[in-house]
Amino acid sequence: MAQFLKGETGDWEIVIGLEVHAQVSSEAKLFSSAATKFGAEPNSQVSLVDAAMPGMLPVINKECVRQAIKTGLGINAKINLFSVFDRKNYFYPDLPQGYQISQFKQPIVGEGFLEIEVSDGVKKIGIERLHLEQDAGKSMHDQHPTKSFIDLNRSGVALMEIVSKPDIRSGEEAGAYVKKLRSIVRYLGTCDGNMQEGSLRCDVNVSVRKPGEELGTRCEIKNVNSIRFVQQAIEYEARRQIEMIEDGHSINQETRLFDPNKGETRSMRSKEEAHDYRYFPDPDLLPLKFDDALVQAIASDMPELPDAKRTRFIEEYELSEADATLLVEERETAEFYEKMAVGRDKKLSANWLGTELFGALNKEGLSLAESPITAESLGRLMEIISDGTISGRIAKDVFVDMFESGEDALDIVERKGLTQISDAGAISELVESVISDNASKVAEFRNGKDKLFGFFVGQVMKKSQGKANPKLVNDLLKDKLG
Ligand code: ADP
Ligand code: MG
Repeated sequence: MAQFLKGETGDWEIVIGLEVHAQVSSEAKLFSSAATKFGAEPNSQVSLVDAAMPGMLPVINKECVRQAIKTGLGINAKINLFSVFDRKNYFYPDLPQGYQISQFKQPIVGEGFLEIEVSDGVKKIGIERLHLEQDAGKSMHDQHPTKSFIDLNRSGVALMEIVSKPDIRSGEEAGAYVKKLRSIVRYLGTCDGNMQEGSLRCDVNVSVRKPGEELGTRCEIKNVNSIRFVQQAIEYEARRQIEMIEDGHSINQETRLFDPNKGETRSMRSKEEAHDYRYFPDPDLLPLKFDDALVQAIASDMPELPDAKRTRFIEEYELSEADATLLVEERETAEFYEKMAVGRDKKLSANWLGTELFGALNKEGLSLAESPITAESLGRLMEIISDGTISGRIAKDVFVDMFESGEDALDIVERKGLTQISDAGAISELVESVISDNASKVAEFRNGKDKLFGFFVGQVMKKSQGKANPKLVNDLLKDKLG
């Protein structure tokens, strides 16, 4: 939902555009065959190209190109059959080439859009472009008091930079945008989306304006690496800009850093100090050309994406929008759900997966892939709840057993004798003994103390050790109490 901030001079609108860097899932780097595995021994995955040895030539990795096309299709974007690699020149110790190979005027992917679900409905966010570029190495300043180290493992790894239009209007929308983009690249297998490991990081552009006015001057907050930090950085930055303007200053276009410990942004460099990157086409690389047949082949091999899955879950399984949104965010969750729920009660399955299974997994710090209960097994638990073999109450105990032992629900029910009692004769006996044991309460009830009904239900359930069919207990009690 668009968010307006109150200032001394009235309401302010926040305007946000995000540049997301997503590391391409690929065995090898963008222009070399060195490996890309995260967490390897420093400088163990560096080819002569990545170390910028003189005379080494970059060779484009076609797999990275395919991944970028696939991602472009996933964000509803135009794929450019002709694009150009440029050199972006700057000096930094972790950039041995002295330039980064990127795409500037002619990126591989043009305009597209994403749909996000926010509290006031679905909103479309425009995407400006997606281009391919190389990552730099990593400087480490904190290992030794007087020395800095450089790890070139990341040097040359392929990144997709995905640039949104300034269509985002609040921290909530920014969070939903990053989540949706992460969800799509994970479904596609084009980026693992891991923000802690830096495979997905955001530059956050923020400006403020009075509603209806022209766009204000923006500040760019670099390298924010969690969704919560994106939101905190936006909150802080928007308030800072409003205060500046209301105090009679103007906003200086600048690059800022977010400090997660203080929850603040602070200036890194102003526009005047900004680099002149002297972009020019890389003479070592031909323009990137492919034909539409490649795009069509990739398009025909796309998985069902979260938006389509969400719509299908709502229509086919009659799930609420909120349930469907949660279930489709991760592909593994959606697939688990479908295995569990097909042929079973859909709503019941959504509740048990969302509440019981995720609750138990979170408590143990396990992922869904590590769940001791399989989708099929949890599905069978749904069946025996639905057909009345056990009550929902007993099912919770059975679930705890299943989670510990991995045993099948029905085996546990049989071994422990937990089958629900649905025999009217047996329940009648229990009802009658409760009535004769509680003569005075029965009299009170018959004299109009309706509230006591729950007490009788509780007594019968207790006598049955929780196994009596609650509906039958209710019916028989009503009947016998008159
Ligand atoms: P640059 O290449 O200098 O970073 P771009 O035009 O590519 O500039 O814009 C970068 C990002 O800034 C985009 O995501 C865009 O949506 C966003 N942006 C542009 N103008 C504004 C603005 N006035 N307020 C907020 N974000 C903006
Ligand atoms: Mg930028």
